[in-house]
Amino acid sequence: MKKLTILGSTGSIGVSTLDIVAAHRDRFEVVALTAGNNLSLLKRQIEIFRPKLVSVLTSERAIELDKMLIGDKPEIHHGVAGLIAAATASDADMVVAAIVGAAGLIPTAAAVKAGKDIALANKETLVTAGRLMMELVRENRVKLYPVDSEHSAVFQSLEGQSRKDVKRIILTASGGPFLNLPLDQLDRVSISDALNHPNWSMGQKITIDSATMMNKGLEVIEARWLFDTPAEQIDVNIHPQSIIHSMVEYVDGCVMAQLGVPDMRAPIAYALTYPGRIPTGVKPLDLTELSGLSFFRPDFRRFPALSLAYRSLSDGESMPAVMNAANEVAVEAFLKGRIGFTAIAAAIERTMDSHTPHTLSSLDEVLGVDLWARNRARELLGLD
Ligand code: NAD
Ligand code: MG
Repeated sequence: MKKLTILGSTGSIGVSTLDIVAAHRDRFEVVALTAGNNLSLLKRQIEIFRPKLVSVLTSERAIELDKMLIGDKPEIHHGVAGLIAAATASDADMVVAAIVGAAGLIPTAAAVKAGKDIALANKETLVTAGRLMMELVRENRVKLYPVDSEHSAVFQSLEGQSRKDVKRIILTASGGPFLNLPLDQLDRVSISDALNHPNWSMGQKITIDSATMMNKGLEVIEARWLFDTPAEQIDVNIHPQSIIHSMVEYVDGCVMAQLGVPDMRAPIAYALTYPGRIPTGVKPLDLTELSGLSFFRPDFRRFPALSLAYRSLSDGESMPAVMNAANEVAVEAFLKGRIGFTAIAAAIERTMDSHTPHTLSSLDEVLGVDLWARNRARELLGLD
């Protein structure tokens, strides 16, 4: 029986994780769940999975949830302390890190320090603090399994191979909803156009990140740390069908790839059961039903956010955290109708231009850089 904590259980990844757990109650037990504001969904999850501990965003939400529950109740926590209590819950074997944004960093680090294995969906953890997190993972001898579909594909394509034989990692990207839109129309797209992803159903922030391709940029940085591979050996190919989830090219010219229909339950389950595999309910792949698979290079004029991510890695250690924070501010502003679509990447670039990169010696320093960049991006965008 594997005991799980799920940070962000009411989100897209959280719900898909619980879908796997529900189908395999003999293998998994839920110890703790955390949510933001969706108390009605959290209540249903508590009734079905009976965690011992839950956490919500604020003390008001905690009181509200307490009133909603009847009978046997879990311990109800709130805030960052509550996230840490869930992440370090003593009987959990593995923590599924599925909070969105840099808010995932501190609870994920707390779980690592408490010796928990991690199923990592929260890519922002490695974007903001990649080297420090990987050092923590090594020091605490925990396992870090990727949930992101591309990184799960790379992880699977590296199985049984020697790292010294790797020539290149090739991350695939769908290209999002604006892949073929005339460039001069990009600044006029609506919020709902941007939220209309062709292949994946995901939370709002990552869906906008997919439209700008900042998501792929964050994934390049995530891959850099997860697989200890320099950015020069990580390429991005646009592959609109999202059937090949990523590839590894070896020195002999052989390329290993992982294929499947786009459904996050497959990579989530692999992170939960590695090295074993379990049925997931994912629709079987029938290649004969497809009209073809295509691949091409990303156009950096259409997707400036992707080049900003490569730039951030070469600029210096604090720059990816600056880029990530500015992106979070700009995406939120776009989703609130305060700025246009092309202003997202422009705001990130200006925030990066005003930062002098430096090395990072602690997670506290990462949080400081994150806060600075949020304020700077807000200032540049005239928000408040
Ligand atoms: P989501 O918005 O659907 O869910 C986020 C969850 O985190 C919710 O439970 C929310 O309540 C909680 N949350 C948000 N902000 C919080 C905060 N400040 N404090 C505490 N809890 C907070 O997001 P998602 O699409 O499930 O994505 C989660 C993470 O997984 C992201 O880092 C994303 O990049 C990554 N990811 C998602 C997918 C996908 O298919 N959705 C695929 C790959 C990677
Ligand atoms: Mg991904």
